[in-house]
Amino acid sequence: MERIYNFSSGPAVLPLSVLEEASRGVLGINGSGMSVLEVSHRGKDYEAIHYGAGERLLRIMGLSQEEYIVLFLGGGASLQFAMLPMNFLTPDKTACYVNAGEWGKKAIKEAKLFGQVHVAGSSEDKNFSYIPKQLDVNPGSAYFHYTTNNTIEGTTQFATPEVGDIPLITDASSEFLSRAMDFSKFSMIYAGAQKNLGPAGVTMIVMRKSFLETAREDIPAILSYKTHAKADSLYNTPPVFPIYVTGLTLKWIEEGGGLAVIEKRNREKAALIYDALDAYPDFYEPTVIQKEDRSLMNITFRIRDTEREKSFLSGAQERKMDGLKGHRSVGGFRASIYNAFPVEGCVALAEYLHEFAERGVRD
Ligand SMILES: *Cc1c(COP(=O)(O)O)cnc(C)c1O
Repeated sequence: MERIYNFSSGPAVLPLSVLEEASRGVLGINGSGMSVLEVSHRGKDYEAIHYGAGERLLRIMGLSQEEYIVLFLGGGASLQFAMLPMNFLTPDKTACYVNAGEWGKKAIKEAKLFGQVHVAGSSEDKNFSYIPKQLDVNPGSAYFHYTTNNTIEGTTQFATPEVGDIPLITDASSEFLSRAMDFSKFSMIYAGAQKNLGPAGVTMIVMRKSFLETAREDIPAILSYKTHAKADSLYNTPPVFPIYVTGLTLKWIEEGGGLAVIEKRNREKAALIYDALDAYPDFYEPTVIQKEDRSLMNITFRIRDTEREKSFLSGAQERKMDGLKGHRSVGGFRASIYNAFPVEGCVALAEYLHEFAERGVRD
């Protein structure tokens, strides 16, 4: 089947080799005579997939199984907005949050149901078009939460915030495993799989064991991190198929050379498109104020003459480029170029950006 250039922000493009292997797994797994969709989550075929994925994830991140655990949970990254404060925040405690995008804002809203929220930095004054750099860290906070990559607005917080001994937590959904990072600075990293790593339906949570120890237990079992940790994410039926496919993508990352290789390619890909936009400052308008905040994953821009938007999109469609329409809160366009998005697609978009600006067509 012919593949188009899929710039969707999520669910999003996956490596073709992963899709091929997954489709074989749907028909039969390990010569068991059963589909991966049919095997028991307590059986040995699934166990190998389940534990293999978690071990590989920690290996890619450079973390040890002695210090960290991996959880695979349903409910999306959005469930983590509520589960995190439910487990670690109480009315007498304060948690720090960075308010740098629509997703971070949603996380703050949920946290306020459980305890005090101290907003350590915000860029809401300018529609989240930059990363707040001066962070006001509240000492003694239960934890410090930020969004690594603001999917909708196209900004990334590249520098890991300095928060002393406050447990550092990030929602890395839309850039998880897109670049090399010192993950050992974090007490918890979580990410929905469907942006960069797999199908919708599973969220990865990587948590420092000593942080997990401090979680409260007087909450419903299904919403307790300790429940899931004790049961190795098999307390109830896990999202088997999304975990399986995510495991295949992790294998693709590891066998491809790991995060350093991924990061280099992602930087090259993003540069192709940003360079094309920057070549026509009177024509295209990047929506991110400072270049240093520009996301490698979600490239947001407008055409200054908004009358041309429709013709830009229809021209893209003719070139087999899909998913370029920006989020309604930002407008314009968004090119999501996650790990599996091919470099050829970035070249194609860059060429189209040049051509469209040169032609200056309007209808
Ligand atoms: C998409 C996204 C979410 C929400 O993910 P769901 O899995 O749909 O709940 C949360 N945070 C960020 C940064 C996202 O990009």
